[in-house]
Amino acid sequence: MARCGSVLKLAPARALLDLLLPPTCLTCDAPVTGDGIFCPDCFRATGFITDPCCLRCAAPFPHADAAGAALVCEECQLEPPPWQRARAALRYDAQARRILLPLKYSDRTEHAAALAPLMARAGAALLRDADVLVPVPLHRRRLISRRYNQAALLAQAVARRAGKPCLPDALQRTRATAPLGSLSPELRAEAVHGAFAVRPRRVAAIAGLRVLLVDDILTTGATCVACAEALLAAGACVVDVLVAARVPDTDEA
Ligand SMILES: [Zn+2]
Ligand SMILES: [Zn+2]
Repeated sequence: MARCGSVLKLAPARALLDLLLPPTCLTCDAPVTGDGIFCPDCFRATGFITDPCCLRCAAPFPHADAAGAALVCEECQLEPPPWQRARAALRYDAQARRILLPLKYSDRTEHAAALAPLMARAGAALLRDADVLVPVPLHRRRLISRRYNQAALLAQAVARRAGKPCLPDALQRTRATAPLGSLSPELRAEAVHGAFAVRPRRVAAIAGLRVLLVDDILTTGATCVACAEALLAAGACVVDVLVAARVPDTDEA
Protein backbone atom coordinates (compact mmCIF):
# COMPACT_ATOMS: atom_id res chain seq x y z
CA MET A 1 0.00 0.00 0.00
CA ALA A 2 2.86 2.34 0.84
CA ARG A 3 4.10 1.89 -2.73
CA CYS A 4 0.67 2.75 -4.12
CA GLY A 5 0.55 5.91 -2.04
CA SER A 6 3.96 7.09 -3.21
CA VAL A 7 2.92 6.58 -6.85
CA LEU A 8 -0.18 8.72 -6.27
CA LYS A 9 1.92 11.42 -4.65
CA LEU A 10 4.25 11.35 -7.64
CA ALA A 11 1.47 11.85 -10.19
CA PRO A 12 1.16 15.67 -9.88
CA ALA A 13 4.97 16.00 -10.00
CA ARG A 14 4.99 13.87 -13.16
CA ALA A 15 2.27 16.05 -14.76
CA LEU A 16 4.28 19.19 -13.93
CA LEU A 17 7.44 17.65 -15.36
CA ASP A 18 5.59 16.69 -18.58
CA LEU A 19 4.41 20.29 -18.87
CA LEU A 20 7.95 21.65 -18.47
CA LEU A 21 9.70 18.88 -20.42
CA PRO A 22 7.20 17.30 -22.82
CA PRO A 23 8.05 13.65 -23.57
CA THR A 24 10.05 13.04 -26.73
CA CYS A 25 10.29 10.01 -29.00
CA LEU A 26 12.49 7.15 -27.78
CA THR A 27 14.87 7.59 -30.74
CA CYS A 28 14.49 11.22 -31.92
CA ASP A 29 13.45 14.62 -30.58
CA ALA A 30 9.89 14.59 -31.93
CA PRO A 31 7.24 15.25 -29.27
CA VAL A 32 5.11 12.23 -28.35
CA THR A 33 2.17 11.67 -26.01
CA GLY A 34 4.00 9.64 -23.36
CA ASP A 35 7.38 8.39 -22.15
CA GLY A 36 9.15 5.52 -23.85
CA ILE A 37 7.25 5.49 -27.14
CA PHE A 38 8.21 6.09 -30.77
CA CYS A 39 7.00 8.91 -33.00
CA PRO A 40 5.21 7.54 -36.12
CA ASP A 41 8.34 7.92 -38.32
CA CYS A 42 10.62 6.09 -35.87
CA PHE A 43 7.99 3.41 -35.29
CA ARG A 44 7.99 2.72 -39.04
CA ALA A 45 11.81 2.67 -39.05
CA THR A 46 12.01 0.13 -36.21
CA GLY A 47 12.80 -3.47 -37.17
CA PHE A 48 10.36 -5.43 -35.04
CA ILE A 49 10.93 -9.17 -35.35
CA THR A 50 7.62 -10.88 -35.91
CA ASP A 51 6.68 -14.36 -37.12
CA PRO A 52 7.97 -16.14 -39.09
CA CYS A 53 11.26 -16.53 -37.25
CA CYS A 54 13.30 -19.50 -36.09
CA LEU A 55 11.79 -21.08 -32.97
CA ARG A 56 15.22 -21.88 -31.57
CA CYS A 57 17.29 -18.75 -32.26
CA ALA A 58 14.74 -16.02 -33.16
CA ALA A 59 16.39 -15.32 -36.52
CA PRO A 60 13.78 -13.75 -38.78
CA PHE A 61 13.18 -15.82 -41.90
CA PRO A 62 14.03 -13.74 -44.95
CA HIS A 63 10.93 -14.90 -46.82
CA ALA A 64 7.50 -15.21 -45.28
CA ASP A 65 6.88 -18.48 -47.16
CA ALA A 66 9.93 -20.05 -45.46
CA ALA A 67 7.83 -20.46 -42.33
CA GLY A 68 5.76 -23.18 -43.94
CA ALA A 69 8.87 -25.15 -44.82
CA ALA A 70 10.63 -25.09 -41.45
CA LEU A 71 10.10 -23.49 -38.06
CA VAL A 72 13.73 -24.08 -37.18
CA CYS A 73 16.51 -22.55 -39.26
CA GLU A 74 19.12 -24.71 -40.91
CA GLU A 75 21.83 -23.63 -38.49
CA CYS A 76 19.76 -24.66 -35.45
CA GLN A 77 18.85 -27.96 -37.11
CA LEU A 78 22.56 -28.71 -37.57
CA GLU A 79 23.65 -27.44 -34.17
CA PRO A 80 20.72 -26.94 -31.76
CA PRO A 81 21.34 -24.47 -28.92
CA PRO A 82 21.07 -25.71 -25.31
CA TRP A 83 17.94 -23.60 -24.78
CA GLN A 84 14.58 -24.62 -26.17
CA ARG A 85 13.11 -21.44 -27.68
CA ALA A 86 14.31 -17.88 -28.25
CA ARG A 87 12.58 -14.63 -29.16
CA ALA A 88 13.86 -11.12 -29.84
CA ALA A 89 11.84 -7.90 -29.96
CA LEU A 90 14.00 -6.07 -32.50
CA ARG A 91 16.59 -6.55 -35.19
CA TYR A 92 19.89 -5.13 -33.92
CA ASP A 93 20.21 -2.33 -36.48
CA ALA A 94 20.97 1.40 -36.30
CA GLN A 95 17.54 2.12 -34.83
CA ALA A 96 17.88 -0.57 -32.12
CA ARG A 97 21.36 0.76 -31.29
CA ARG A 98 19.80 4.18 -30.55
CA ILE A 99 17.83 2.51 -27.75
CA LEU A 100 20.27 -0.13 -26.54
CA LEU A 101 23.63 1.66 -26.50
CA PRO A 102 22.37 4.49 -24.22
CA LEU A 103 20.83 1.83 -21.95
CA LYS A 104 24.12 -0.02 -21.78
CA TYR A 105 26.62 2.81 -21.57
CA SER A 106 24.93 6.16 -20.83
CA ASP A 107 22.72 5.55 -17.80
CA ARG A 108 19.52 5.75 -19.84
CA THR A 109 17.96 3.14 -17.58
CA GLU A 110 14.45 4.31 -18.51
CA HIS A 111 14.99 2.61 -21.89
CA ALA A 112 14.53 -0.74 -20.10
CA ALA A 113 10.95 0.22 -19.24
CA ALA A 114 10.39 1.24 -22.88
CA LEU A 115 11.76 -2.07 -24.20
CA ALA A 116 9.85 -4.25 -21.72
CA PRO A 117 6.47 -4.11 -23.51
CA LEU A 118 8.15 -4.85 -26.86
CA MET A 119 9.97 -7.85 -25.35
CA ALA A 120 6.84 -9.02 -23.54
CA ARG A 121 4.92 -8.97 -26.82
CA ALA A 122 7.60 -10.83 -28.78
CA GLY A 123 8.12 -13.35 -25.97
CA ALA A 124 4.48 -13.78 -24.89
CA ALA A 125 4.50 -17.58 -25.33
CA LEU A 126 7.84 -17.92 -23.53
CA LEU A 127 6.67 -15.73 -20.67
CA ARG A 128 3.47 -17.70 -20.28
CA ASP A 129 5.47 -20.89 -19.69
CA ALA A 130 8.27 -19.38 -17.60
CA ASP A 131 8.50 -20.00 -13.85
CA VAL A 132 11.23 -17.44 -13.28
CA LEU A 133 13.21 -14.82 -15.23
CA VAL A 134 16.99 -14.68 -14.88
CA PRO A 135 19.24 -12.06 -16.53
CA VAL A 136 22.69 -12.63 -18.01
CA PRO A 137 24.99 -11.28 -15.26
CA LEU A 138 27.82 -8.76 -15.48
CA HIS A 139 31.11 -9.53 -13.79
CA ARG A 140 31.25 -7.93 -10.34
CA ARG A 141 33.99 -5.51 -11.38
CA ARG A 142 32.02 -4.32 -14.40
CA LEU A 143 28.85 -4.04 -12.30
CA ILE A 144 30.69 -1.78 -9.85
CA SER A 145 32.00 0.51 -12.61
CA ARG A 146 28.71 0.63 -14.54
CA ARG A 147 26.51 0.59 -11.41
CA TYR A 148 23.74 -1.45 -13.02
CA ASN A 149 23.28 -4.51 -15.22
CA GLN A 150 21.18 -3.60 -18.26
CA ALA A 151 20.05 -7.23 -18.69
CA ALA A 152 18.80 -7.26 -15.08
CA LEU A 153 16.86 -4.02 -15.65
CA LEU A 154 15.21 -5.61 -18.70
CA ALA A 155 14.46 -8.88 -16.88
CA GLN A 156 12.94 -7.04 -13.92
CA ALA A 157 10.82 -4.77 -16.15
CA VAL A 158 9.54 -7.70 -18.24
CA ALA A 159 8.89 -9.82 -15.11
CA ARG A 160 6.87 -7.00 -13.53
CA ARG A 161 4.69 -6.72 -16.64
CA ALA A 162 4.15 -10.48 -16.79
CA GLY A 163 3.61 -10.92 -13.05
CA LYS A 164 6.46 -13.45 -12.90
CA PRO A 165 9.29 -13.69 -10.37
CA CYS A 166 12.76 -12.50 -11.34
CA LEU A 167 16.02 -13.65 -9.78
CA PRO A 168 18.57 -11.01 -10.85
CA ASP A 169 21.38 -12.67 -8.87
CA ALA A 170 20.75 -16.31 -9.83
CA LEU A 171 23.68 -16.42 -12.26
CA GLN A 172 27.17 -15.14 -11.62
CA ARG A 173 30.27 -14.74 -13.76
CA THR A 174 32.90 -17.00 -12.31
CA ARG A 175 35.62 -15.14 -14.21
CA ALA A 176 35.89 -11.87 -16.09
CA THR A 177 35.82 -12.14 -19.89
CA ALA A 178 37.31 -9.66 -22.33
CA PRO A 179 34.80 -7.73 -24.46
CA LEU A 180 33.58 -10.12 -27.17
CA GLY A 181 32.96 -7.44 -29.81
CA SER A 182 35.79 -8.16 -32.21
CA LEU A 183 36.02 -11.93 -31.72
CA SER A 184 34.95 -14.60 -34.21
CA PRO A 185 32.02 -16.84 -33.18
CA GLU A 186 34.48 -19.64 -32.27
CA LEU A 187 36.61 -17.37 -30.09
CA ARG A 188 33.51 -15.89 -28.44
CA ALA A 189 32.33 -19.38 -27.49
CA GLU A 190 35.77 -20.21 -26.14
CA ALA A 191 35.98 -16.94 -24.18
CA VAL A 192 32.71 -17.47 -22.28
CA HIS A 193 32.75 -21.26 -21.97
CA GLY A 194 32.37 -22.12 -18.28
CA ALA A 195 32.41 -18.43 -17.29
CA PHE A 196 28.97 -18.61 -15.62
CA ALA A 197 27.45 -20.56 -12.75
CA VAL A 198 24.29 -20.50 -10.68
CA ARG A 199 25.06 -19.03 -7.27
CA PRO A 200 25.06 -21.90 -4.75
CA ARG A 201 22.39 -20.18 -2.64
CA ARG A 202 20.10 -19.92 -5.71
CA VAL A 203 20.38 -23.53 -6.91
CA ALA A 204 17.31 -24.60 -4.92
CA ALA A 205 15.33 -21.70 -6.44
CA ILE A 206 16.22 -22.79 -10.00
CA ALA A 207 16.11 -26.59 -9.81
CA GLY A 208 13.18 -28.15 -11.63
CA LEU A 209 11.91 -24.83 -13.03
CA ARG A 210 11.41 -23.39 -16.50
CA VAL A 211 13.80 -20.46 -16.66
CA LEU A 212 13.54 -17.55 -19.08
CA LEU A 213 17.04 -16.17 -19.60
CA VAL A 214 17.05 -12.44 -20.48
CA ASP A 215 19.73 -10.38 -22.20
CA ASP A 216 19.90 -7.13 -24.15
CA ILE A 217 21.54 -8.32 -27.38
CA LEU A 218 21.93 -11.77 -28.93
CA THR A 219 24.93 -11.76 -31.25
CA THR A 220 26.43 -15.20 -31.85
CA GLY A 221 24.58 -16.57 -28.81
CA ALA A 222 27.84 -17.61 -27.10
CA THR A 223 26.98 -15.83 -23.83
CA CYS A 224 23.44 -17.23 -23.74
CA VAL A 225 24.78 -20.72 -24.52
CA ALA A 226 27.17 -20.53 -21.55
CA CYS A 227 24.39 -19.17 -19.27
CA ALA A 228 21.85 -21.77 -20.41
CA GLU A 229 24.38 -24.54 -19.80
CA ALA A 230 24.99 -23.21 -16.27
CA LEU A 231 21.23 -23.07 -15.55
CA LEU A 232 20.68 -26.59 -16.89
CA ALA A 233 23.67 -27.88 -14.91
CA ALA A 234 22.04 -26.43 -11.78
CA GLY A 235 18.87 -28.40 -12.49
CA ALA A 236 16.65 -26.02 -14.47
CA CYS A 237 14.30 -28.27 -16.46
CA VAL A 238 14.03 -25.96 -19.49
CA VAL A 239 15.70 -22.70 -20.51
CA ASP A 240 14.18 -20.27 -23.02
CA VAL A 241 15.84 -17.01 -24.11
CA LEU A 242 14.31 -13.53 -24.51
CA VAL A 243 16.39 -10.62 -25.77
CA ALA A 244 15.69 -7.01 -26.71
CA ALA A 245 17.51 -7.28 -30.03
CA ARG A 246 19.08 -9.89 -32.23
CA VAL A 247 21.95 -9.38 -34.64
CA PRO A 248 20.72 -10.58 -38.02
CA ASP A 249 22.50 -13.60 -39.47
CA THR A 250 25.42 -12.56 -41.59
CA ASP A 251 24.03 -14.28 -44.66
CA GLU A 252 20.81 -12.33 -44.24
CA ALA A 253 22.31 -8.92 -43.50
ZN1 LIG B 1 11.10 9.57 -33.50
ZN1 LIG C 1 17.72 -20.83 -35.67
